[in-house]
Amino acid sequence: MYKELVIPQRTIMTPGPVEADPRVLRVMSAPILGQYDPDFLKIMDEVQDLLRYTFQTENHQTFVVDGTARAGIEAVLSGIIEKGDKVYVPIFGRFGHLLTEISKRAGGDVHTTEIEWGTTYSFHQLKKEIDEFQPKVVAIVHGETSTGRMQPLKELGHYCREKDILLVVDSVATLTGTEFKTDEWKIDAVIAGTQKCLSVPTGMAPLTYNDRVEKILKERRKIEQGLDKDSFNDRMISTNYLDLSQIQEYWSPKRLNHHTEATSMLYALREGLRIIKEESLEERIKRHKYNEKALVEGLKAMGLEIFGEEFDKVPTVTCVMVPEGVVESEVRLEMIKNFSVEIAAAFGPLTGKLWRIGSMGYSCRKENVLRVLSALEATLIRKGVCVNRGEALQAALNIYEV
Ligand SMILES: *Cc1c(COP(=O)(O)O)cnc(C)c1O
Repeated sequence: MYKELVIPQRTIMTPGPVEADPRVLRVMSAPILGQYDPDFLKIMDEVQDLLRYTFQTENHQTFVVDGTARAGIEAVLSGIIEKGDKVYVPIFGRFGHLLTEISKRAGGDVHTTEIEWGTTYSFHQLKKEIDEFQPKVVAIVHGETSTGRMQPLKELGHYCREKDILLVVDSVATLTGTEFKTDEWKIDAVIAGTQKCLSVPTGMAPLTYNDRVEKILKERRKIEQGLDKDSFNDRMISTNYLDLSQIQEYWSPKRLNHHTEATSMLYALREGLRIIKEESLEERIKRHKYNEKALVEGLKAMGLEIFGEEFDKVPTVTCVMVPEGVVESEVRLEMIKNFSVEIAAAFGPLTGKLWRIGSMGYSCRKENVLRVLSALEATLIRKGVCVNRGEALQAALNIYEV
């Protein structure tokens, strides 16, 4: 016999997945609706509307791909990249490599640059590469969760538009955690994820794109022969499940029969977005900044070193150096075991060197910041690390009590 699942209550301070708002979890237990039920279609329309607010866009094509954030990235890049198309990906961490990998698989002629992990590009560096390579598409990460850095996009967006280049942005780690203005920054396509600052379980990729992208998708449109036996297109998109030329029609009044929409997940997303609208983007961004400050001040007061510089730090992820004499993974495991608090390891060249502490969405709140600081301090002391005892919580409380 298998026992009923009893899931422990965790304090999740990673860069995703993060804790879901209890309101989101509640709505997920609502009854199933059929995907063409008028009551469900209304939910789809509302989600699109709420997403436009969240992405700060007027784009008509604003909807959700079922799958994690990378499904959304893959859908957009496979939709616009055809064999031999020139794509430029400026890499500054793990997720730039992901954009590269997906662009190559889509058949792109991909040019990359890579800078040291922990830094970001100046507009001048990006412009130089763009002028030399003359790509059709530039794909870039906004908040690089692997290094805790944030790449400024406004100048890049305006420049790409001026040069008629399509700019695709991964805002998975930043959307609603910091300012992100799709239209104002002239970004052609943006992809997000649900399990980061939206505080909804993983499994959906909200995205938005403008008519420049839509035009290419329409040219490549090909629907299944079981629905239209005459549909033919020699430029058709190579993936069926992630074919935006069909999915955008599923999300249109035509309701083209493509996949079966994940109805319960969409209830969850609607609730998550409704919470964002209630809080307002401005307040939410302020809340992320405020808690980040308390976290950073606490870590510094403990005597730990923050990785990277302050000016390009992403407010939703704080990378902190692992002090001498401890094994990074042991500290993380003991924090879970003793305190039910989770933080994240690092990737690639940074493996073992730093911890990544997320402060995203519903997880980004005072009691969580205080819990992660106390759990980390106590664990380090037990491991024999010399820290400034008792200082971290006081420094964080000083921020909260102003
Ligand atoms: C988490 C993350 C992804 C990947 O998201 P999945 O939902 O795991 O596919 C992509 N880009 C960035 C910047 C991320 O932080």
